[in-house]
Amino acid sequence: MKTISCKDMGVDCGFVAKGETAEEVISKLNDHATKAHPEVVAEMSKKMSEEQMKTKMTSMVKDM
Ligand SMILES: [Zn+2]
Repeated sequence: MKTISCKDMGVDCGFVAKGETAEEVISKLNDHATKAHPEVVAEMSKKMSEEQMKTKMTSMVKDM
């Protein structure tokens, strides 16, 4: 199983996305972050392109 947490992204939040594939957990974290931390998403999208964010998140996905 793969996981990625808000903490991995530098957000002080206990949310952890779990799934079978990296794409799945990234999409779950994206959904959560868009709703729960819109200011963080806005800040990141100022500094990074969507592609760069995807790469960063992919590198933070952990295997359980
Ligand atoms: Zn969160």
